[in-house]
Amino acid sequence: MSDTADQELAERARKLFAGPVTFLKSAPGLQFLPDAHAPEIAFAGRSNVGKSSLLNALTNRNGLARTSNRPGRTQELNFFDVGEPIQLRLVDMPGYGFAEAPKDLVKRWRFLVNDYLRGRAVLKRALVLVDSRHGLKEVDRDIMRMLDDAAVSYHIVLTKGDKVKPTALGALYETTMVEAAKHPAAHPAIFTTSSETGSGIAELRTAILTAALDQ
Ligand code: GDP
Repeated sequence: MSDTADQELAERARKLFAGPVTFLKSAPGLQFLPDAHAPEIAFAGRSNVGKSSLLNALTNRNGLARTSNRPGRTQELNFFDVGEPIQLRLVDMPGYGFAEAPKDLVKRWRFLVNDYLRGRAVLKRALVLVDSRHGLKEVDRDIMRMLDDAAVSYHIVLTKGDKVKPTALGALYETTMVEAAKHPAAHPAIFTTSSETGSGIAELRTAILTAALDQ
């Protein structure tokens, strides 16, 4: 793509996310999913990875996604409509990796997420959020494998980039790239973001719009 086309897309993404964003619904089971009439981008990550903060930063508002550190707080898929008329939908998937959660809760999470990932034709991309201070953990690899198996393309997003030194962040970026390359559905573009400083947020907005426009 030319530089001008890139800039146009970035501007379109900026405008889109600055416009109307509304919470549509929570789906505690597949029978509650909304009609599939807009491209969807799903957010996955361990509890406390900074998912609510990232959703708020992307959409430039506070309190769109509830910020809470309670592990396993959401056992449902939350849908947000972006644009009026709707251009795309952001899907906040339940947090995972709550070691202290009861086994049946973890099992329920796997069923819900797996069914959604495998059955949703409008799902264009997933974002796998990884805390920059910790890097990829086994639970992250687990969801990466679920996405590989469901053939859902995903970007890894390193969150809370402001919490680590630039050199450490650079090193983490490199090792994450190497590991992602071994996963068939991992997209080669990896993002580093900070919801605190706003770094990487505009780039991620553009990537989300690009994925949504992908036929
Ligand atoms: P969630 O459980 O994944 O939704 O995570 P939250 O968005 O609730 O964030 C968990 C904690 O990390 C909160 O205390 C946030 O303020 C903090 N946090 C989230 N993103 C960032 C970030 O980019 N930078 C910093 N410094 N803290 C963050």
